[in-house]
Amino acid sequence: MSQTMQFDCLLVGGGLQNALIAMALIERQPATRLALIERDSRLGGNHLWCFHARDVPPDARGFVDPLVAHRWPAYEVAFPELTRRMDVEYLGITSDRLHEVVSQRVAASSSATLFCNAAVERVTAGSVVLADGRTLRGALVVDSRGPERLQAQGRTAYQKFLGLEVALAEAQPGFVPKLMDAQVPQTDGYRFFYTLPLAPERFLVEDTYYADGPQLDRERIRGEILAYAQRIGLHVTNVVREETGVLPLTTRPLSPPIRDGVLVGGYAGGWFHPTTGYSFPVALRLARYLASADLRQPFGEGWNRLVAHRQSQARYFNLLNRFLFGAMPPDQRRNAFELFYRQSEAMILRFYAMDVTLTDRLRLFAGRAPRGLSLRAALSALLPR
Ligand SMILES: Cc1cc2nc3c(=O)[nH]c(=O)nc-3n(C[C@H](O)[C@H](O)[C@H](O)COP(=O)(O)OP(=O)(O)OC[C@H]3O[C@@H](n4cnc5c(N)ncnc54)[C@H](O)[C@@H]3O)c2cc1C
Repeated sequence: MSQTMQFDCLLVGGGLQNALIAMALIERQPATRLALIERDSRLGGNHLWCFHARDVPPDARGFVDPLVAHRWPAYEVAFPELTRRMDVEYLGITSDRLHEVVSQRVAASSSATLFCNAAVERVTAGSVVLADGRTLRGALVVDSRGPERLQAQGRTAYQKFLGLEVALAEAQPGFVPKLMDAQVPQTDGYRFFYTLPLAPERFLVEDTYYADGPQLDRERIRGEILAYAQRIGLHVTNVVREETGVLPLTTRPLSPPIRDGVLVGGYAGGWFHPTTGYSFPVALRLARYLASADLRQPFGEGWNRLVAHRQSQARYFNLLNRFLFGAMPPDQRRNAFELFYRQSEAMILRFYAMDVTLTDRLRLFAGRAPRGLSLRAALSALLPR
């Protein structure tokens, strides 16, 4: 089949990044002829994406709120010498919710089109070729085909995890989410459990590692998660869903996000937090920007400001990663996070949002050094390659 279709904007990959862009454009620039192209039968894969309420500025709530499936008013973190409750709202988007809401919005729009089961074979400035031979044309092409396409330079570390969504024998009302329970043996880097109550009888429990290598022993980890759940009083009857991720964390700057005239979005384009591997706050920034831009000429002054902010933040977090992975022995990395969680709530939220100020940056470096930091390795982490 050889057929050509004309659009204003082509969104390649129906994951988190392009779902946010589609939602933002449908709300703010409803006349945009938009194509959202996904190779699978559903949008969003198999995820629960979490973020802080602070990551969503008031102007984005209109299109982010419908995607939110879970809201928790507070969470806790636990380290050997510190437990802390953070009274800040934490939110979650599920893949199912994302698929339902985005496909409904696209169906209700007269100018947006959703292509599912549509693998993209070739992406160039101004056009996309599908595996079945159809060609889609559009002045703006945003290629967000996921973390696997990230091209990092220099050393890469990993945030890797496996999570089990489990059904419980008894309801656990009032359970406060535990974002980091690091009171566990530190194997394979900084390791912690992450426990979120999705419903009184349904929990997500994840075993997470900030590690040097990407290997994940899934069988062992499944067993460890079930043993951990038992230890904290969750009586699991069955596993309902499993999710896993091996997210590359960078230590050096990435190339700019426009490559051969194509805007590379999402994780592949560097729209993520180098230290946490989370991408929601940064992906949302790109979506908000595009929704307010002239899509025929989107790369002017406002674009330069957006990219400069991102690069400056990424430089700082890449440096932090060089300390964390280069100057801290794997089993001591937890000390850096424990120290970090002694900071103010506002500063912790800016850190997660990739929006740290100069004072924040100095505070993290000028304060007490975490136990285990090798000064020699820290100095070499500061030097250019
Ligand atoms: C399991 C998991 C949980 C995560 N949890 C969080 C979290 O809680 N908070 C957070 O901020 N970040 C989280 N992240 C990190 C990050 O937000 C996600 O990786 C996020 O999904 C990245 O968004 P993306 O749009 O770049 O890529 P993806 O969401 O991976 O989307 C890429 C899409 O492109 C499609 N695609 C690929 N190739 C083609 C092709 N040739 N043709 C058409 N379509 C194609 C894929 O099928 C996929 O749907 C998580 C990552 C994982 C893996």
